Amino acid sequence: MKPAAFEYRKASTVEEAVEQLTQLGDDAKLLAGGQSLVAMMNFRLVRPSALVDVKGILDLQYVEANGEGLKIGALTPHRWIETMEDPGVLEGFSVLKSAARWVGHYPIRTLGTFGGSIAHADPSAEWCMLATLLDAEMVVVGPGGERMIPASDFFQGFFTTALEPDEMIIEVRFPEPAPYAALQEFARRAGDYGIVAAAVALDLQGGECRSARVVLGGVSDVPLRIPEAEQVLEGADIGQEVFKEAGQEAAKVIDPPSDVQGTAEYRRDLAATLIQRALTEAVAKVKEAADAR
Ligand SMILES: Cc1cc2nc3c(=O)[nH]c(=O)nc-3n(C[C@H](O)[C@H](O)[C@H](O)COP(=O)(O)OP(=O)(O)OC[C@H]3O[C@@H](n4cnc5c(N)ncnc54)[C@H](O)[C@@H]3O)c2cc1C
Repeated sequence: MKPAAFEYRKASTVEEAVEQLTQLGDDAKLLAGGQSLVAMMNFRLVRPSALVDVKGILDLQYVEANGEGLKIGALTPHRWIETMEDPGVLEGFSVLKSAARWVGHYPIRTLGTFGGSIAHADPSAEWCMLATLLDAEMVVVGPGGERMIPASDFFQGFFTTALEPDEMIIEVRFPEPAPYAALQEFARRAGDYGIVAAAVALDLQGGECRSARVVLGGVSDVPLRIPEAEQVLEGADIGQEVFKEAGQEAAKVIDPPSDVQGTAEYRRDLAATLIQRALTEAVAKVKEAADAR
């Protein structure tokens, strides 16, 4: 199927993009990599009256570590994250690189953008989950200027965010390194969104967990933090027993949907297993780091 007719414009700066969105009204949309938007237009799930193509704003393609946090330009392709080699970035944010392999297929990773995925706000999207896990902030520009939106306020529902129709994400900021973070997911076919995905981040002292973050994708209409699983981990001696308990606790408290991909019960089982796997991977990173010293 082909999309309904729309007006096409190009912007070569952020200011131009915002100005065009303001002029064109609420039915206009930004076009970044087109990997979600064009498919939805082809299926007539969305019918924007106009597209403002921002792919040419190349100064929004970057991944920058500033000693502590990490900044990712909104138009950075997924593939850049997958292939990043800068030790300054990888030391604290290797979870982004390892999670990138789960994002769609190679052509999608080449064309799709980091900011596009965040704006699209699929609750199973890897970048949306990691933004929630690691307290990222979205830097957004609109007609009134720039504002920052924390991930906890940004994702408001299925494909729904705190963005106004005339605002553009220009950057995503991760405030602190998370060396012991991991993401695991399960999809029936390679390249599909995970039916369920689990992301975890640990702060460990010796064998004890000082603090933990656990986020699930595919079980709710937003990436979902699971404080009950975090409480099981915090203060506990780490090991498979406590990882299993954290997964089981999460399975108890979530209320996932049933659909053609699987029943709610199946998603609960997946959540428990994937949390356990992600925790195991995060701890393996701690051991690797200790061995490398
Ligand atoms: C078969 C298939 C499998 C996929 N599997 C996965 C997967 O496993 N995991 C995953 O995360 N993604 C997956 N994707 C989606 C892919 O990652 C997209 O690249 C991403 O969701 C959207 O990025 P984009 O740059 O292509 O944005 P577009 O498709 O161009 O835009 C998507 C939406 O975001 C808005 N938008 C784009 N950029 C901005 C911005 N800077 N500021 C404000 N609004 C903006 C657009 O207006 C539009 O509403 C898959 C896609 C396909 C087709």
